[in-house]
This record gives sequence, structure tokens and C-alpha cells, in this order.
Amino acid sequence: MLIVMRHGATADEVQKVISVVEEMGYQAAPMPGAQRTAVGLVGNDGRVDASRLEGLPGVQEVIHVSKPYKQVSREWRPESTVVRLAGGVTVGGNEVVAIAGPCSLETERQVLESARLVKEAGAVILRGGAWKPRSSPYSFQGLGRPGLKLLAKAREETGLLICTEAMDPDGVGWVSEMADIVQIGARNMQNFSLLKIAGRCGKPILLKRGISATIVELLLSAEYLLAEGNHDVILCERGVRSFDTMTRNLFDLTAIPVVHKLSHLPIIADPSHGTGLRDKVIPMARAAVAAGADGIMVEVHPNPEDALSDGAQTLYPDQFTQLMREVRIIAEAIGRRVAEPAAVGA
Ligand code: PEP
Ligand code: MN
Repeated sequence: MLIVMRHGATADEVQKVISVVEEMGYQAAPMPGAQRTAVGLVGNDGRVDASRLEGLPGVQEVIHVSKPYKQVSREWRPESTVVRLAGGVTVGGNEVVAIAGPCSLETERQVLESARLVKEAGAVILRGGAWKPRSSPYSFQGLGRPGLKLLAKAREETGLLICTEAMDPDGVGWVSEMADIVQIGARNMQNFSLLKIAGRCGKPILLKRGISATIVELLLSAEYLLAEGNHDVILCERGVRSFDTMTRNLFDLTAIPVVHKLSHLPIIADPSHGTGLRDKVIPMARAAVAAGADGIMVEVHPNPEDALSDGAQTLYPDQFTQLMREVRIIAEAIGRRVAEPAAVGA
């Protein structure tokens, strides 16, 4: 529920609303905004009796948020969330960000070379997994903590920001200490205890859509993060399982405008996992930007045929360079622009 204050309501009037919400046994989230000040009532799973709040001085109206997800909804916050990262990089504003790198971190040489290549092409965030959620226990599981050191070195050399996945509570601790964005992967989208920990980790979260999750379920999972106080959440469409075997997943492009309508959170697109096929990644990345995605996340490796995971969907460096050229044109055509990497290490 949202208690919207009148234009010009005093600080005392807002404070009174907060006290009454707390007396009623709920949490109050004051939200000063350019257009209006509102106080969110958090923690109710059903309808709250609004009459006590409606009559308070300075209150204009009480809005019942109709969606099951509350704080992530546009009813709660009409303006889009802009996630602010180090170096002035933003996700969810006018800029479209490119996140790229190998599926798995493998060797120092591979990580540093990947970082240089993707930066040269125009990525602002390097992504690679130190822990990999693999369907088979016999597949490469990732380097673990040493992988994080390689990412730190790549950031130092190139100035790229770092995004990497955490798969368990210890991982959230380690990743949030070093990375700029903590990725929660598709398989963990509904790992609610992990989401609660991620919601308290103090770093922005990239939350990937579950393999068979509906958009409402994705938004409810994001709600777990906001409910713990983390408002820097970026959603990611990465395809859902389908009956058709022509592609690895069914890349749900429609999710982008649907999420933008329902939620103020930014959403990026991962056409690498969305399609699973190198030659399909480029057209779907272009389409995602045209559809309004706030960024693209693409797997790139210096030698995809040697990649220890997801080689078949990984772009050659030249292909990524070409994609970035095209994406700049598409972004411009819809009044946006692609974020360019800072000059560090250039
Ligand atoms: C990944 O991002 O490398 C990954 C394993 O993706 P997902 O969680 O979307 O399957
Ligand atoms: Mn991968």
C-alpha cells in the first residue's frame, strides 16, 4: 500500500504517517520524489485497513498496490530505476550497456585477453563465472575463488566493471567483496534463502529469469531483494525452456516491454543462453536493443572452440566487435546511446 502525500506536505506530516504505519505493525518506506512524496507500507500480504491513514493531515490518497509484487511494481514507483555503478556507468537510464566475457573463467591469459578484447569492442562490464552451475557434476565447475582474483586483475588493467555469479551464501560474500554486480543465475532465481542473503550484500544484483519462470515469478524473486533493502536490481531475460529443440531456449523478447510496463527495474537481455547458438546471438542481441533492453549480456571468448563451457553460443571477438557497431546504430535510432568504456588502461 502507498500513502501519497499532498504537494507541500510538511516533514511533520510525513513523520506522523510513518509513526502510524509502524504502530499498525508494518514497515514504513518514505519515498521522496520529484513529483510527489509517498510512504510505502511494507510487509502486508493482504488488504490493510486504510481508514486510519486516509484521514491524517497531509495525506492525498491511499493506493492499494494490486500486484503481488509490490516494491518492484510501477504502481509503487512510476519513475524507472537507474542503477548507478562505479565510474558513472548506469543501467536503466538512457544508456544501453554491454556486458561481455567468457562463460567460464579459465586461465589468467584467457581472462585478461577477453577483458581487453571486449573493452576494445565497447563493453563496459566484464562477465565471467568463477562458479558455474552445470547440469552435469562431471563438467567443468569453475575455478572458484582464484577466478575472482583474475577478475580483479582484469578490472585493474582495463577499468572494466565486473559481474560474476554467486551460487551459495559463501559465494555471495566473496563475490560481493570484489565484484561490481553479483549475478544470481537462472537456476537460483527461486532460491529464496539465497535471495535474502543477496538482498543484504550491499552490491547491485543481476537476477536472471529462471528456466521455466513466469514473468510474475521473476518479479516476485526481485521483490525478495528489495524487501531486504537492496534496490539496485537488474533483471535479465535469458530464455525459457520450450517444446522446440531448434534452439537451447526460447528467447522471450516480449518479456522486455512487458517487464518495463509492470516494473521500474531495468532489464537486460542475454541472447547467448537465450538461443544457445552463436549465429543466433547477433540477430537476437540486435532485436533486444530495438525492443528496449537496458543492456545486452553476451558470451565472448578469444578462442570459442577451446572454451570449457558454452562454446557453441560464444562469439568470436570479431563478431562481438561487429555486433557492437550495429547495436550503436540501433540504440541511436530509438533515442538511446551505448555506454562507452572509460579510458583506463587504454
Ligand atoms: C551463465 O550466465 O553463464 C549461466 C549459467 O546462465 P543461466 O543462469 O542463465 O543459465
Ligand atoms: Mn554460459
